[in-house]
Amino acid sequence: MNKKVKAIRKDALNFILEIGESAHPEEMVGMLTAKKKVITDMVLAPGTYTSDKSAVMRVNQLPMGLNTVGSVHSHPSGNISPSKTDLEMFSKNGDFHIITGYPFEKNNWVCYNRKGEERELEVRDIENKEEDNLWEKELERLKEDIDE
Ligand SMILES: [Zn+2]
Repeated sequence: MNKKVKAIRKDALNFILEIGESAHPEEMVGMLTAKKKVITDMVLAPGTYTSDKSAVMRVNQLPMGLNTVGSVHSHPSGNISPSKTDLEMFSKNGDFHIITGYPFEKNNWVCYNRKGEERELEVRDIENKEEDNLWEKELERLKEDIDE
């Protein structure tokens, strides 16, 4: 199911960049959560700790019931290639792993798969999503009209 994820909400991405910037020069670590094929949020992982080399996550301390599809963390150095430790963590924690780095501008992030290969992630504007919802509602209304 998670493999069908192909987009991230723009506001979620902006949030990730903001958190990365506010944690700077420390690293931030979190998990990505998805709804219906779209990454909608990041959850800062409690019980995470950082070192200057790599961010380490304790996934078992996350709240239950979240549909997590991968991880997100920051590289204060600005080099957004995964470290050896990152690759090991990627392989165990889902198929979407965002690394963001200094200076945390719009393009300072990459999404990797569980093998550490770059993967495409469409950035979806929330307004499009709202339009979709409106269209769905309109369809529902039409169906109801027909039923009556
Ligand atoms: Zn890293």
